Amino acid sequence: MRIGVLALQGAFIEHIHALTQLGAECVELRQLADLEQPLDGVVLPGGESTVQGKLLHELGMFTPLQEKIKQGLPVLATCAGMILLAEHLAADSTRHLATMPITVKRNAYGRQLGSFVTEAELGSLGRVPMTFIRAPYIESVGEGVETLAVVDGHIVAAQYGRQLALAFHPELDIDKSTAVHEYFLRLCR
Ligand code: GLN
Repeated sequence: MRIGVLALQGAFIEHIHALTQLGAECVELRQLADLEQPLDGVVLPGGESTVQGKLLHELGMFTPLQEKIKQGLPVLATCAGMILLAEHLAADSTRHLATMPITVKRNAYGRQLGSFVTEAELGSLGRVPMTFIRAPYIESVGEGVETLAVVDGHIVAAQYGRQLALAFHPELDIDKSTAVHEYFLRLCR
């Protein structure tokens, strides 16, 4: 199984460690040519969504990546990655790949609660550790989107077809649980 990990900016190394540990082959996606190889899935890591969106455009990767996701390429999107997938951003006309009918609020926890760690139920996976870093949350989901996790009344994980969007960073807690990456690899099969 070959997984492409977007490696333009942000926390991509940790995803590569997690997926490699689970037996997947990972390739870093840094330029258009990297997207042209056969991939079974793609990871959009956390970081800064504005920067990632800009780089995707500058490198000519934006439309090819968007097409692949629309055609059903499985995606694991964490934090900034989730912002890239969102069809709408709350109080913001910016849109990036916009392949998932969710409305996402950026930096939703404000300054004081910018970063925190908790544990909550995630779909059928049971309780998993959740590390939030200047995290967004999902304000609303559109038709066909399944809510997978709610923390303090806010949706923090959802799935739309084979697109999995998480507000938190499972790649930072792989010493405690690899359940999220295992679940993603099952989606890629
Ligand atoms: N605040 C970042 C953004 O808006 C996301 C933070 C993260 O990925 N840890 O893009």
